[in-house]
Amino acid sequence: MSQKMPAAVHYDHKDGAVELRDVRVPTIGKEDALLEVRSVSVCGSDVHMWRDKLGHKPRVPVILGHEFSGVVAQAGKRVQGFKEGDRVASETAAEICGICILCRTGQYNLCPQRKGFGHYADGAMTQFVKVPARCLHHLPDGLPFRKSALLEPSCVAYQCTAVNTRIRPGDFVVVLGPGPIGLLALQVARLQGALKVFVSGVGEDAPRLDIAVRRLGADRGINTSLEDPVEAVKSFGDGLGADVVIDAVGISETLRQSIAMVRPGGQITKVGWGPAPVGFSLDPLVAKGATLQGSFSHNYGTWERVIQLVTDGKINVEPLISRVAPLEGWHEAFSKMEERVEVKAVLTPNGPI
Ligand SMILES: [Zn+2]
Ligand SMILES: [Zn+2]
Repeated sequence: MSQKMPAAVHYDHKDGAVELRDVRVPTIGKEDALLEVRSVSVCGSDVHMWRDKLGHKPRVPVILGHEFSGVVAQAGKRVQGFKEGDRVASETAAEICGICILCRTGQYNLCPQRKGFGHYADGAMTQFVKVPARCLHHLPDGLPFRKSALLEPSCVAYQCTAVNTRIRPGDFVVVLGPGPIGLLALQVARLQGALKVFVSGVGEDAPRLDIAVRRLGADRGINTSLEDPVEAVKSFGDGLGADVVIDAVGISETLRQSIAMVRPGGQITKVGWGPAPVGFSLDPLVAKGATLQGSFSHNYGTWERVIQLVTDGKINVEPLISRVAPLEGWHEAFSKMEERVEVKAVLTPNGPI
């Protein structure tokens, strides 16, 4: 193994501060594995870090990449259940305290000490990444690396839609934002028995809305530059609005829409981020007796379920994969996602998969 490897490094809190650098191959501890990265997908948050538009300040320099899978190249002395050559995917909580009540009760995704790959710990947009063995999951033979790169966003969508939201058969569900999380949340809502799922996006989301309707089973795509999403939702059924709204955008405007379109007694789950202050009254939420729920990350149980669902094709990630490219192609991949002409790019730092 050579000592140096190319890595996509976020090196400063300013626009455009990502570049390929030669970095050292990490050394691992007794409870870690060294993962040879075979696939790592580009997240909207990677693009935001590149553009310095994230709501918080991640560590710099840091190697990007938190949606990844690969092969165990080396296993630490105390690692059990994983050995060299195993095909695996990794969770994202690179560091947790391990002793707080959240960690001890399986909610380590909410540990105040959590440090995520690609934000506060070196991530996987490189050839090798150090991963604590507790983060690893075995991949079934039937799940190729191009798809396993999308397990992480699938877990975000599952945690949001199936764990933190109560959807009952027959519910009317609206997903705001046809980005990767929205397109995956749509499918999870379907699996939970939603009667109708509408997906809403702005004008430039048109190609993604098309994927939602034509390939992933959305009942309707709402283009908000052509019609008012609140009216579109209220024109369906009894006119009282949606039982459940999943906000996979996160900005103030989509929260406003969510509150306006949710039916009395309904639920809004916010999985998208929006650093700007809200700027309007939340009184309608009170008047409707509606629930506003946040959802962040995922944990072990969600991963094991999602691996089965993606392998089985019940969550279909293929229509989201717009591009598979070598690490050197990161810049074009980020640009195309920023322009929303592509949904998801998968990078392959160790050659074709
Ligand atoms: Zn992500
Ligand atoms: Zn903890």
